[in-house]
Amino acid sequence: MPYDLIIRNGKVVDGSGIPGFYGDVAISGNRIVEIGQVSGEARRVLDADGLVVAPGIIDNHTHYDAQVTWDPLCTFSCYHGATTVVIGNCSLAMAPAHQGDREMLAGVLSHVEAIPLEAIRAGVTWSWETIPEYLNALDHRLGVNVASLIGHSAVRRYVMGEASQERHATDDEVSAMKAIVREGIEAGAVGVSFERNMRHFDWDGRLAPTNLASDAEIFAVAGVVDKVGRGVIQFGGDRKLGAQVAKNSRCPVFYGNITQQAVAPDRWREQLADAENMMRQGHRAYQFVMPRPGDLRYTLKTAQHFDALPTWKNVMLLPLEKRKEVFRDPEVRAKLHVEAVETPRDPNRVGEFTRRWDLQFVFRPALPKHQHLKGKSVAEIAREQGRDVLDVFLDLSLEEDLETEFERREVNSDEAAMTALLTSPYTIIGQSDGGAHVVFRTDYSYSTYLLSHWVREKGIMSLEEAIRKLTFVPASLFGLFDRGLVRPGMAADLVLFDTQTVRECEPEMVNDLPGGEKRLIQRAIGVKTTMVNGAILVQDGEHTGAFPGRVLRNHHNGHPSL
Ligand SMILES: [Zn+2]
Repeated sequence: MPYDLIIRNGKVVDGSGIPGFYGDVAISGNRIVEIGQVSGEARRVLDADGLVVAPGIIDNHTHYDAQVTWDPLCTFSCYHGATTVVIGNCSLAMAPAHQGDREMLAGVLSHVEAIPLEAIRAGVTWSWETIPEYLNALDHRLGVNVASLIGHSAVRRYVMGEASQERHATDDEVSAMKAIVREGIEAGAVGVSFERNMRHFDWDGRLAPTNLASDAEIFAVAGVVDKVGRGVIQFGGDRKLGAQVAKNSRCPVFYGNITQQAVAPDRWREQLADAENMMRQGHRAYQFVMPRPGDLRYTLKTAQHFDALPTWKNVMLLPLEKRKEVFRDPEVRAKLHVEAVETPRDPNRVGEFTRRWDLQFVFRPALPKHQHLKGKSVAEIAREQGRDVLDVFLDLSLEEDLETEFERREVNSDEAAMTALLTSPYTIIGQSDGGAHVVFRTDYSYSTYLLSHWVREKGIMSLEEAIRKLTFVPASLFGLFDRGLVRPGMAADLVLFDTQTVRECEPEMVNDLPGGEKRLIQRAIGVKTTMVNGAILVQDGEHTGAFPGRVLRNHHNGHPSL
């Protein structure tokens, strides 16, 4: 019988970390059936000459729970090679939901994850109440595969109603929550998520339900995963409690992420040491690292990070014409200089400007004559010109009518730190928050950024190791046992890309959310084909019209996950 598809002459980087090799990959139905020198007929042949053939990327921490109902591709993760997204993180989910709780669940997802409430209201057609019903509703028309965690906030609201945002749970209520979590995991949810973060509210200023839980409630509800014997726990916020959950459990626990921050230069070392210690002690306790820089672009029309400095705050609140005038005033400038250059940063004030002028870069000069400054830091330009940093910063902006675009590179940008974090065997790459913070962040491009910036340009790890970390590692931890490797018998979730050109594009603002709400989007280049369950989902940056995705259900004992 002919194969459905043969991918010929690609370089197979199979997800295990072993060196890539040239060969063919044959697919029948939704499975890989043969690898190597494949003879025999196929209904279709894809020529992968010059391309890498790798397992599809597992986008391991997203908030597409609402978006997936109107956008079954979960844009734009799959454009960056993702074939599976994990939803239901940080305690937030769309099920279980009594009819009367829909508005509250939409509200807390919207507020905590910065997704326009109007988009959720306009986009979601609620047709489910329970977790199994939600999973079945999704399973009809998916672009990518979806693996769903159970959100503790949703479960708590379902059981306790309004009281879920007011008080501790009774023993009976905890028992009811445990039963719902068990039912969800048995229906195929891949675990349960919690959070302890006292800054995560709904639109009425009430804490998300999970934050009202006692430690004992969290241990009890999380314990269901161990009892059932499969699934993971995701715990956001409070690291100490997250670590305790991991110590109590034998299943994989994801608790937080490690970031390099200019304001706390040594913290990442301590956190990495913690991660290593936990694993050396045999706990399945994992922390994420995001390969993308936490860069923030700004102009002196839009900057907010000077607001903790009193003179700066007053100036930044002035109308633009007046603001420009005041920036030119030598007396005011002297005060601005004292605050932003001479006075050391107060480490106790969260979000205060770092004074790191070596990390403020000219991202996009407005005038042609300033193009040579592109990519240089303000400190570097000041040094070259023998001038003061603040004069350089303000004069450049003023000359360009405050249109100069700067970029702060204060998070996840230090090369030595990022090399240590990304190459450590004790970190997990990911936590894109795809579908969240939609007007600010597009971290779902972490895969193409890792492959272009850290692998191709900086060479901090091999392509094979990068692919292993993007695919086999998360597939293994989330129990997606038939994903994450290019091997006979595995699901045909594949990405074909060009190692020489793969990268993320510039983000762009569009109004394509339901109700015309806006979001920042980011496409990729060099990703030739994203294939899900043997069908091509995205080809050359365009959706093919196929909907081959499935809900991946965490069923062990040898049954395929679909
Ligand atoms: Zn999250």
